[in-house]
Amino acid sequence: MTRMMTVIGLTVVCAASAALAEFDERKLVDLTYALDERTVFWPTNKPFTWEKSAWGTAPGGYWYASGDFSMSEHGGTHIDAPIHFGEGRLAVDEIPLQKLIAPAAVIDVRPAVEEDRDYRMTVADLEAWETRHGRIPRGAVVLMLTGWGQRWPDKQRYLGTDNPSDALTLHFPGFSKEAADFLVTQRNVYGIGIDGPSIDFGPSRDFIVHQIVNGANLYGLENVANLDQVPPTGAILVALPIKIKGGTGGPVRIIAILP
Ligand SMILES: [Zn+2]
Repeated sequence: MTRMMTVIGLTVVCAASAALAEFDERKLVDLTYALDERTVFWPTNKPFTWEKSAWGTAPGGYWYASGDFSMSEHGGTHIDAPIHFGEGRLAVDEIPLQKLIAPAAVIDVRPAVEEDRDYRMTVADLEAWETRHGRIPRGAVVLMLTGWGQRWPDKQRYLGTDNPSDALTLHFPGFSKEAADFLVTQRNVYGIGIDGPSIDFGPSRDFIVHQIVNGANLYGLENVANLDQVPPTGAILVALPIKIKGGTGGPVRIIAILP
C-alpha cells in the first residue's frame, strides 16, 4: 500500500468520524442511476424487473411491504468484476474493500466525443490531463467523462442504435486499447469507469479493454451517473457493489466525496 493511499484513507475516516451527524451533503455526489423498468441493459442481457409481493395492511393490522427483483449482473450502474473477462480472476465478492475506495481522476473528453460518437480515449488524452493536474495517482480509479449521461435512459440514443436489441449496431465511446494498457501497466490504477454503456466502444467485437483491465485483476464501472459533477482531481470514489458470491459483477452504489 502506498503512503498516499494511506493518507487518503485516513482523511476519509477522519472526515466521517468528525462529522457523523452532519456529513456535508454538498460534498456527496450520487453517481448511481436508480433501477427501474427504463434502466438500460446490454442488448442481450435480462432487464431489471421488480414486483410487489406484498403491499398494504397485513392480516395483523400493521403495514407490510415487500418486493422481488431480478436482473442481469450487467445493467444500469454496475461493476464488472475481474472474473467477467479474466479467467480465474476475482469475483465481485472478492474485490478488496480498500480497492473500492479510491481517488477519482476524471478525464473529460466531451469535445472529442461530440465530433465522433465512437471516440476512444487515447494515451495523449491521459497525458494532457496529467500536464494540467499531475500524475494519475497509483491506486486511482480513472473515469472517462463522455457526456453520454445526457442520453440516459433513452435506449436508442444511449446505445447509439435504432435497434437496441442488436449488439452488432452499437455506437458509443470507450477507452482505447493503448489507454487501458497505459493505465494498467504504467499507472497501476485500481479500476476504470465511464459514464456510458461500456468501457469498450460500441463497435468493439473483442472487448479488448475489458480483457486488459479484468485480465489484470482490476474492475470496470459502467453507466456511471452524474460524472459531470465530479472535478478532474481531488474527489474520493466509493463504489460498493452487491456481494454476490462468485458473481461476475452487479449493481453498485457509487458516490463521490468531493474535496
Ligand atoms: Zn458489465
